[in-house]
Amino acid sequence: MTVTAGVVGNPIAHSLSPAIHNAWIAAAGLDAEYQPFLAPLDGFAAFIADLRGKGVRGVNVTIPFKEEALAVATSASDLAQLAGAANLLVFENGEVRADNTDGPGLLEALATEGFKATDGPAVILGAGGAARGAAAALVLAGSPQVRIVNRTRERAHALAASLGETVTDYQRAEDAFADAAVIINATSLGLGGGEGPYAPFECAPGSAVVMDMVYKPLVTDFLDKAAGRGHPTVDGLAMLIGQAKPSFEAFFGRPPPAGVDARAVALGAMR
Ligand code: NAP
Repeated sequence: MTVTAGVVGNPIAHSLSPAIHNAWIAAAGLDAEYQPFLAPLDGFAAFIADLRGKGVRGVNVTIPFKEEALAVATSASDLAQLAGAANLLVFENGEVRADNTDGPGLLEALATEGFKATDGPAVILGAGGAARGAAAALVLAGSPQVRIVNRTRERAHALAASLGETVTDYQRAEDAFADAAVIINATSLGLGGGEGPYAPFECAPGSAVVMDMVYKPLVTDFLDKAAGRGHPTVDGLAMLIGQAKPSFEAFFGRPPPAGVDARAVALGAMR
C-alpha cells in the first residue's frame, strides 16, 4: 500500500518540501508519496485528526502551526519540548509523536562550514519560532552561550528566560557580535530580496560563521554583506534540506538515498 506523508501549513503552495521528498522517494523506488496539505487557520487539530483517519503516516508542519503541532502530540522529543514547537508529527499505534528537526537541520547546515555548537557564543537575530528552535538546538548541543537580539526586546527577554541560563537577550548587536562563533539571521528580514537585519559585522571575529535562514533569494543582503567581510557563510536552503532528512527517515523508515542533488531539486522548484 502506498505510504502517504506530507507537509501541513497555510499557505503551503510555496513549500519546497514536496519536491525534495518526492525526488528522494523516486530515487529510492518507494511506493510512497509526499503531498502539500493546506489546513484551515482555525482548524489544525481537526485537520490532523482527519489525516490520521485517512491513514497518513505523518506530516511536517510549517507556518503558522508549529506550536499547535506540539499541542496535538501525545509524546514529544526533548528538543520539541524545549523549542515549544514541532515541525514533525508521526502517527503510529494510535500515538502522535512530535519532534523538531529544524534545529538539527540548522546544526547540519552549520557543520558544512566546520561549526560545532561548543565552538563559542552564538548570536541569533530574531525571537520568533525559528529563533526559538535554533536556540533550543544550540543549548541542547552544548553551546556555551546563546545571545538573542530582537527588535521587540521583551520578546527576546521572554525567549531567553524560558530557555535557561545559557540564553541571554542583548539590546545592542555590537555587544552580542563581539567574540561570536556564529551569527544567525532568524528574522524574516531579507525575504524576497529586501534589506536584512542590522548586522555590525565589523564587531565580530572574521572567523564567525554567518547563516541566514531566509533562502529566497539564496544570497541575501545579510549573507552578501557577511561574505564581503570575509565570513564563511551558510544559506537557508542547507537548513531546509537538513531538516528534511530526519523527517524522511521518520516517515519511510530509511534515510534519503544517496545520489540525489536535493539542492538542485529545491532550486529547480524555486523557479
Ligand atoms: P516569526 O515567528 O514571524 O518571527 C519573525 C521575526 O522577525 C521576529 O523576531 C520579528 O521581530 C522579526 N522581524 C520581522 N519584521 C521585522 C522588521 N521589520 N524589523 C526587525 N525585525 C523584524 O517567523 P519565524 O517562523 O521565526 O521565521 C523567521 C524566518 O526564518 C522566516 O523568513 C522563515 O521563512 C525562516 N525559516 C527558515 C527555515 C529554513 O529551513 N531555512 C526554517 C524556519 C524558518 P519582532 O519580534 O520584533 O516582531
